[in-house]
Amino acid sequence: MTKIARSSGPFLEWLDRWMADLPDETMSGLVKQTGGASRVAVFCVDLTVGFCSEGALSSPRVEGIVEPIARLFRLAHSSGVRQFILPQDSHPADSPEFGAFPPHCVAGSAEADTVPQLEALPFASTFVRIPKQSVSPAAGTDLEETLDSLLVDTAICVGDCTDICLYQMAMFLKTRATAEGRPVRVVVPADCAQTYDMGVDDAAKVGALPHPGDLMHGVFLYHMALNGISVVRTIDA
Ligand SMILES: [Zn+2]
Repeated sequence: MTKIARSSGPFLEWLDRWMADLPDETMSGLVKQTGGASRVAVFCVDLTVGFCSEGALSSPRVEGIVEPIARLFRLAHSSGVRQFILPQDSHPADSPEFGAFPPHCVAGSAEADTVPQLEALPFASTFVRIPKQSVSPAAGTDLEETLDSLLVDTAICVGDCTDICLYQMAMFLKTRATAEGRPVRVVVPADCAQTYDMGVDDAAKVGALPHPGDLMHGVFLYHMALNGISVVRTIDA
């Protein structure tokens, strides 16, 4: 057994139990606690074709959260929520990010499109899309300006990848609110978050870093909870 596996064994067992025992949340409860649907916003990061179904970074694990997220959008909208913010990769063809990750979601390509299941929603025209050029939703984007024009006391954060862009987005919303002295509640439903999996052997073949999806998903959900973000199993009616 490796040194890390030995020292982390009890934590990993705890993490499994923690994830199995995550509490459920309800949209009606969230709206009520927040003081009205007008103060609730849904932030959905990188639910694009390039992470779900086409291209170098598409992943069946991430595609698996498209339907739960579309369901959450419908539930939020039918509950009166009208703020849907979508930070999404929209890279120039020569993005420096392609030194770390293979080229993906180039602006104007099909990969950069929002998934069709969200585009098909009758209120898709109201989505506030935030094109982003890095894993941060805020660096070099309109996000802060957009946030200043919204009323957000509860931020529901969903999307991919749990440990990369979703983590960055949830942490940005939480840390910005903390720095401004505002008690914004950031909620991440685990059934609407996911990350990709790449085994050690497969990674070696393509010269990439390995990425154990279950471990990264679990550890980063835990890390968000550690920082005061409400991680729940799901949000239902
Ligand atoms: Zn990217």
